[in-house]
Amino acid sequence: MTPPLHASERDKRHIDRPLRSIRGGGLSLVKHVSSYGSPSTGHVPLDADVRKEPTPILSQDDLFHPLSQSPFAPVRERGEAIKKLAACPVCAGEHSHLHAHTKAQPKAVNFECPDCGWPTHCSQEHWEQDEEHKKYCSRLREVNEDDHDLRSGRKIREFELPGPQDSETAISFANWDVFWYTRGFPSMDTERSRRHASKLLTYPITIGSVLHEHSYLTLNNQRLTPEGSRSMAALRTTLHVPPGAPETEEASATKPEVRIFILGARAESSLPANVWEQLHMLFPAAILHLFFVGPQVSLPDFAKAKRTSGASSATGQANQPSTRAQNQDQPAEQAPAQETMSQLSSANPNSEPTEEKPKYVPNIYNPPTPAPIALRKYTRQSIERYGVPSYTTPYNHQLTITGLQTNYVDVHAQFQETFDPYTDCFFLFNPGFGFPSPYSSDEHGNALLQIASPTEWGPVVPLLLATKCPIIVTGFSPADVERDIRSLSTAPGVAGEFDWVITPGPNAFGSEKWEVADFDPRVMLKLNWGIWAIRGQRRDVRERSSFSSIFSS
Ligand SMILES: [Zn+2]
Ligand SMILES: [Zn+2]
Repeated sequence: MTPPLHASERDKRHIDRPLRSIRGGGLSLVKHVSSYGSPSTGHVPLDADVRKEPTPILSQDDLFHPLSQSPFAPVRERGEAIKKLAACPVCAGEHSHLHAHTKAQPKAVNFECPDCGWPTHCSQEHWEQDEEHKKYCSRLREVNEDDHDLRSGRKIREFELPGPQDSETAISFANWDVFWYTRGFPSMDTERSRRHASKLLTYPITIGSVLHEHSYLTLNNQRLTPEGSRSMAALRTTLHVPPGAPETEEASATKPEVRIFILGARAESSLPANVWEQLHMLFPAAILHLFFVGPQVSLPDFAKAKRTSGASSATGQANQPSTRAQNQDQPAEQAPAQETMSQLSSANPNSEPTEEKPKYVPNIYNPPTPAPIALRKYTRQSIERYGVPSYTTPYNHQLTITGLQTNYVDVHAQFQETFDPYTDCFFLFNPGFGFPSPYSSDEHGNALLQIASPTEWGPVVPLLLATKCPIIVTGFSPADVERDIRSLSTAPGVAGEFDWVITPGPNAFGSEKWEVADFDPRVMLKLNWGIWAIRGQRRDVRERSSFSSIFSS
């Protein structure tokens, strides 16, 4: 069931749209429960509230609701936002046939399809005329039911995370199913469970599945190049122990820190630390330091923590505004589980860290910075160390998380002298290299592609190539991956300067949940659908991957 790399005609029709914006996802919002040092055995509930069995608000046979009639305000608000942003596809089709004879613009969507519940057309008449809609309708209904399920108040077992790996069992990275099984997750019995769990875990497990010695990306299946094999071997000597030795915490005593730089981070920077702990649990003998870097990295609300200190423990801080607004003076554990879990929806409803009633923020162009993350007991500000708004959380003796809310070019110099292909790598999730920049254009007024734009990735990628550390990149769809790769050949300081590490193709650990674009509900994508990687070319190595010629013309 591997989708081909080439875009279908329908994908092509949509590829000129700014898909990067959809990445916002509101993964941000699940509260922490495990305290510093986190429990070491058994399943760790993601949220304290799930310990007591909640009474569902919606039953499993009552998950479908037209957006305008949803019992949940954020879903209703999303429907309203789409009605303002999306154009009726039937009107739009008529419009393009009429050429310049009419100035009529396509009407906004106002009619909700009774089968999927999304506003999809200007009127019932145009909905009935549209033969195309049935291609999208069942997926849209699936998202409708998924979003209501997350808010339904049921106990979401999919979010219960396992403790450390049993040393007798090897972890398999063949696909989600065997990964969950070999890691001891609760069984994912339904497609819906798979969608929820894969969306929660896609960022940490994508990283783990690339770096781990049991990666599914191998020389044999040609997803890893010979050059890439050398890069990964270097990192794995630091991440793992020699063959035959036990992978234990003690083995980490003599090891250097492995630094994973996640650039342009948004939603991934707001994942709870105990979800990121799942990445560390794949490498029990390693010391990991995650760096989230980007202007939209989520930071803890230190000022707020000061105001409320004494009222609740640091780990009890809610990290999403609706809960905080309603529970100003109570520990967040008392907030309804349903409120917390609902935040895992693809909608990005409560993104502004204000105390006001949350408003739905459309997921287009520039999704807002995720809500502040929870302040853990040992989280400290790091502005004096890095000179930018930042924090560091020493989560346990082997995992540290740092967030830097700034453009990467502003902090590169602080790391420049220390990069080492044995200890460092970069991950760029859905970076949108091939999209036009909203801010920068060439001398003819044409938007520059983001890979070459001074306001986006233009100054960054050559710096990363100079480190010779692997740069791992994901994309939303076959078309998105192909567009990003084609853009490499147009970028000064990038074209001709890299070797392939991982050949482009599907990511076995992408999210299986569809993300719907508010500006056009026909545009549906999956976070981290595809994956590939490059590395700065070593001049002394003449061997060239045959792959590089495919996209270099
Ligand atoms: Zn219409
Ligand atoms: Zn429909």
